[in-house]
Amino acid sequence: MRLPLNIDSVKGFMPRDEGEALYAACAEALSDKGLFAASGGVCAEIGSYCGKSAVYLGTACRAHGGRLLAVDHHRGSEENQPGEAWHDAELADGEGGVDTLPHLRATLRRARLERVVLPLVGHAEDAAACVAAPLAFVFIDGGHSREAVMRDYRLWSPKLAPAGLLALHDVFPDPADGGQAPYEVYRGALASGLFAETHHVGSLRVLRRV
Ligand code: SAH
Ligand code: MG
Repeated sequence: MRLPLNIDSVKGFMPRDEGEALYAACAEALSDKGLFAASGGVCAEIGSYCGKSAVYLGTACRAHGGRLLAVDHHRGSEENQPGEAWHDAELADGEGGVDTLPHLRATLRRARLERVVLPLVGHAEDAAACVAAPLAFVFIDGGHSREAVMRDYRLWSPKLAPAGLLALHDVFPDPADGGQAPYEVYRGALASGLFAETHHVGSLRVLRRV
Protein backbone atom coordinates (compact mmCIF):
# COMPACT_ATOMS: atom_id res chain seq x y z
CA MET A 1 0.00 0.00 0.00
CA ARG A 2 1.34 3.45 -0.95
CA LEU A 3 -0.69 6.36 0.30
CA PRO A 4 -0.99 9.38 -2.01
CA LEU A 5 -0.04 11.89 0.69
CA ASN A 6 1.65 12.15 4.07
CA ILE A 7 -1.13 10.68 6.21
CA ASP A 8 0.27 12.34 9.34
CA SER A 9 -0.72 15.69 7.78
CA VAL A 10 -4.42 14.72 7.90
CA LYS A 11 -6.34 15.43 11.10
CA GLY A 12 -8.23 12.46 12.44
CA PHE A 13 -8.65 9.41 14.59
CA MET A 14 -7.14 6.51 12.65
CA PRO A 15 -3.89 4.97 13.88
CA ARG A 16 -1.64 3.81 11.06
CA ASP A 17 -1.86 0.06 11.80
CA GLU A 18 -5.66 0.22 11.89
CA GLY A 19 -5.73 2.30 8.70
CA GLU A 20 -3.56 -0.25 6.94
CA ALA A 21 -5.92 -3.02 8.07
CA LEU A 22 -8.84 -0.96 6.76
CA TYR A 23 -7.05 -0.68 3.41
CA ALA A 24 -6.36 -4.43 3.32
CA ALA A 25 -9.94 -5.37 4.19
CA CYS A 26 -11.40 -3.04 1.57
CA ALA A 27 -8.96 -4.30 -1.06
CA GLU A 28 -9.92 -7.86 -0.18
CA ALA A 29 -13.63 -7.12 -0.59
CA LEU A 30 -13.11 -5.44 -3.97
CA SER A 31 -10.92 -8.33 -5.17
CA ASP A 32 -13.82 -10.77 -4.70
CA LYS A 33 -15.22 -10.99 -8.24
CA GLY A 34 -18.67 -12.11 -7.16
CA LEU A 35 -18.91 -9.35 -4.56
CA PHE A 36 -17.71 -6.75 -7.06
CA ALA A 37 -20.29 -7.90 -9.60
CA ALA A 38 -23.05 -7.70 -6.98
CA SER A 39 -22.08 -4.26 -5.66
CA GLY A 40 -20.44 -2.45 -8.56
CA GLY A 41 -17.55 -1.91 -6.16
CA VAL A 42 -19.51 0.67 -4.12
CA CYS A 43 -18.31 1.08 -0.52
CA ALA A 44 -19.49 3.43 2.25
CA GLU A 45 -18.02 4.95 5.37
CA ILE A 46 -20.10 6.58 8.11
CA GLY A 47 -18.02 9.28 9.81
CA SER A 48 -15.33 10.87 7.62
CA TYR A 49 -14.26 13.89 9.70
CA CYS A 50 -11.26 15.34 7.79
CA GLY A 51 -10.74 12.28 5.59
CA LYS A 52 -8.12 10.18 7.33
CA SER A 53 -9.91 6.83 7.02
CA ALA A 54 -11.25 7.93 3.61
CA VAL A 55 -7.66 8.15 2.31
CA TYR A 56 -7.00 4.51 3.29
CA LEU A 57 -10.31 3.28 1.90
CA GLY A 58 -10.18 5.53 -1.16
CA THR A 59 -6.68 4.31 -2.00
CA ALA A 60 -7.95 0.72 -1.88
CA CYS A 61 -10.91 1.72 -4.04
CA ARG A 62 -8.68 3.41 -6.60
CA ALA A 63 -6.44 0.35 -6.81
CA HIS A 64 -9.38 -1.99 -7.37
CA GLY A 65 -11.87 0.09 -9.39
CA GLY A 66 -14.25 0.79 -6.51
CA ARG A 67 -15.78 3.99 -5.16
CA LEU A 68 -16.38 5.23 -1.61
CA LEU A 69 -19.38 7.17 -0.37
CA ALA A 70 -18.08 9.26 2.53
CA VAL A 71 -21.07 10.03 4.78
CA ASP A 72 -20.83 12.77 7.42
CA HIS A 73 -22.88 15.84 8.37
CA HIS A 74 -19.53 17.52 9.12
CA ARG A 75 -20.91 19.25 12.22
CA GLY A 76 -18.81 17.00 14.44
CA SER A 77 -19.80 14.57 17.17
CA GLU A 78 -20.65 15.69 20.71
CA GLU A 79 -17.05 15.31 21.82
CA ASN A 80 -15.83 17.57 18.95
CA GLN A 81 -17.91 20.59 19.98
CA PRO A 82 -16.25 23.70 21.48
CA GLY A 83 -15.43 23.05 25.13
CA GLU A 84 -15.50 19.24 24.76
CA ALA A 85 -12.55 16.85 25.07
CA TRP A 86 -11.90 16.34 21.33
CA HIS A 87 -12.49 19.89 20.08
CA ASP A 88 -9.97 21.27 17.57
CA ALA A 89 -10.09 25.06 17.36
CA GLU A 90 -8.88 24.94 13.73
CA LEU A 91 -12.20 23.32 12.78
CA ALA A 92 -14.36 26.10 14.26
CA ASP A 93 -17.02 27.36 11.84
CA GLY A 94 -17.14 30.88 13.31
CA GLU A 95 -20.73 30.33 14.46
CA GLY A 96 -20.11 28.38 17.64
CA GLY A 97 -19.79 24.99 15.99
CA VAL A 98 -17.41 23.02 13.80
CA ASP A 99 -17.30 22.36 10.05
CA THR A 100 -15.01 19.60 8.79
CA LEU A 101 -16.24 19.57 5.18
CA PRO A 102 -13.61 22.04 3.85
CA HIS A 103 -10.93 19.89 5.48
CA LEU A 104 -12.28 16.70 3.92
CA ARG A 105 -12.35 18.37 0.51
CA ALA A 106 -8.79 19.63 0.89
CA THR A 107 -7.65 16.13 1.91
CA LEU A 108 -9.33 14.53 -1.11
CA ARG A 109 -7.87 17.07 -3.49
CA ARG A 110 -4.37 16.67 -2.05
CA ALA A 111 -4.74 12.87 -2.27
CA ARG A 112 -6.13 13.09 -5.82
CA LEU A 113 -9.09 11.00 -4.69
CA GLU A 114 -11.88 13.30 -5.87
CA ARG A 115 -12.96 10.84 -8.59
CA VAL A 116 -13.01 7.95 -6.11
CA VAL A 117 -14.32 9.30 -2.79
CA LEU A 118 -17.70 11.02 -3.00
CA PRO A 119 -18.72 13.05 0.07
CA LEU A 120 -22.36 12.58 1.02
CA VAL A 121 -23.08 15.46 3.40
CA GLY A 122 -25.88 14.71 5.82
CA HIS A 123 -27.08 12.78 8.82
CA ALA A 124 -26.27 9.07 8.55
CA GLU A 125 -29.95 8.19 8.85
CA ASP A 126 -30.97 10.42 5.92
CA ALA A 127 -28.05 9.15 3.85
CA ALA A 128 -29.15 5.57 4.53
CA ALA A 129 -32.55 6.40 3.05
CA CYS A 130 -30.83 7.54 -0.17
CA VAL A 131 -28.31 4.75 -0.66
CA ALA A 132 -29.48 1.45 -2.09
CA ALA A 133 -28.04 -1.97 -1.40
CA PRO A 134 -25.92 -3.89 -2.20
CA LEU A 135 -22.59 -2.50 -1.00
CA ALA A 136 -19.22 -4.27 -1.01
CA PHE A 137 -17.86 -2.69 2.18
CA VAL A 138 -19.29 -0.60 5.05
CA PHE A 139 -17.17 1.18 7.67
CA ILE A 140 -19.02 2.52 10.74
CA ASP A 141 -17.20 5.32 12.63
CA GLY A 142 -19.84 8.06 13.05
CA GLY A 143 -21.55 9.06 16.29
CA HIS A 144 -20.33 6.86 19.14
CA SER A 145 -23.34 6.96 21.50
CA ARG A 146 -25.18 3.67 21.93
CA GLU A 147 -28.13 5.08 20.00
CA ALA A 148 -25.96 6.26 17.10
CA VAL A 149 -23.86 3.11 16.71
CA MET A 150 -26.91 0.82 16.96
CA ARG A 151 -28.77 2.94 14.42
CA ASP A 152 -25.87 2.97 11.98
CA TYR A 153 -25.51 -0.81 12.31
CA ARG A 154 -29.27 -1.35 11.91
CA LEU A 155 -29.54 0.90 8.85
CA TRP A 156 -26.26 0.24 7.04
CA SER A 157 -25.25 -3.39 7.69
CA PRO A 158 -28.28 -4.80 5.79
CA LYS A 159 -27.04 -2.92 2.71
CA LEU A 160 -24.07 -5.27 2.43
CA ALA A 161 -24.12 -7.78 -0.38
CA PRO A 162 -23.56 -11.40 0.69
CA ALA A 163 -19.86 -11.80 1.59
CA GLY A 164 -19.59 -8.01 1.96
CA LEU A 165 -17.38 -6.71 4.76
CA LEU A 166 -18.49 -4.65 7.77
CA ALA A 167 -15.76 -2.70 9.61
CA LEU A 168 -16.39 -1.26 13.09
CA HIS A 169 -14.08 1.24 14.75
CA ASP A 170 -13.42 1.97 18.44
CA VAL A 171 -14.35 -1.52 19.62
CA PHE A 172 -13.02 -1.70 23.18
CA PRO A 173 -13.71 -4.91 25.16
CA ASP A 174 -12.27 -3.23 28.27
CA PRO A 175 -14.38 -0.25 29.44
CA ALA A 176 -11.15 1.35 30.72
CA ASP A 177 -10.09 1.83 27.07
CA GLY A 178 -13.22 3.58 25.79
CA GLY A 179 -16.99 3.69 25.31
CA GLN A 180 -18.77 0.37 25.06
CA ALA A 181 -21.33 1.03 22.31
CA PRO A 182 -19.22 -0.22 19.35
CA TYR A 183 -18.23 -3.31 21.37
CA GLU A 184 -21.87 -4.08 22.14
CA VAL A 185 -22.79 -3.76 18.47
CA TYR A 186 -19.82 -5.96 17.52
CA ARG A 187 -20.91 -8.66 19.96
CA GLY A 188 -24.50 -8.40 18.76
CA ALA A 189 -23.41 -8.78 15.13
CA LEU A 190 -21.47 -11.97 15.93
CA ALA A 191 -24.27 -13.34 18.12
CA SER A 192 -26.80 -12.79 15.32
CA GLY A 193 -25.05 -15.41 13.22
CA LEU A 194 -25.16 -12.99 10.28
CA PHE A 195 -21.46 -12.08 10.53
CA ALA A 196 -18.12 -13.82 11.09
CA GLU A 197 -14.92 -12.00 12.09
CA THR A 198 -12.16 -11.68 9.49
CA HIS A 199 -9.71 -8.98 10.70
CA HIS A 200 -8.79 -7.51 14.08
CA VAL A 201 -6.17 -4.79 14.58
CA GLY A 202 -6.35 -2.56 17.64
CA SER A 203 -9.90 -1.22 17.97
CA LEU A 204 -10.76 -2.11 14.36
CA ARG A 205 -12.88 -5.21 13.79
CA VAL A 206 -13.89 -6.46 10.37
CA LEU A 207 -16.75 -8.92 9.90
CA ARG A 208 -17.95 -10.75 6.80
CA ARG A 209 -21.64 -11.03 6.05
CA VAL A 210 -22.19 -14.79 5.85
N1 SAH B 1 -13.16 8.20 10.37
C1 SAH B 1 -12.62 9.47 10.83
C2 SAH B 1 -13.10 9.88 12.21
C3 SAH B 1 -14.59 10.05 12.32
S1 SAH B 1 -15.06 10.99 13.76
C4 SAH B 1 -11.07 9.42 10.79
O1 SAH B 1 -10.52 8.48 10.22
O2 SAH B 1 -10.44 10.33 11.31
C5 SAH B 1 -16.80 10.86 13.72
C6 SAH B 1 -17.48 11.67 12.64
O3 SAH B 1 -18.85 11.24 12.63
C7 SAH B 1 -17.50 13.18 12.85
O4 SAH B 1 -16.90 13.84 11.76
C8 SAH B 1 -19.00 13.53 12.96
O5 SAH B 1 -19.37 14.73 12.28
C9 SAH B 1 -19.66 12.34 12.29
N2 SAH B 1 -21.02 12.07 12.75
C10 SAH B 1 -21.44 11.93 14.04
N3 SAH B 1 -22.76 11.67 14.07
C11 SAH B 1 -23.18 11.64 12.78
C12 SAH B 1 -24.45 11.43 12.16
N4 SAH B 1 -25.55 11.18 12.87
N5 SAH B 1 -24.52 11.50 10.82
C13 SAH B 1 -23.41 11.75 10.08
N6 SAH B 1 -22.19 11.94 10.61
C14 SAH B 1 -22.07 11.89 11.94
MG1 MG C 1 -13.08 6.06 15.31
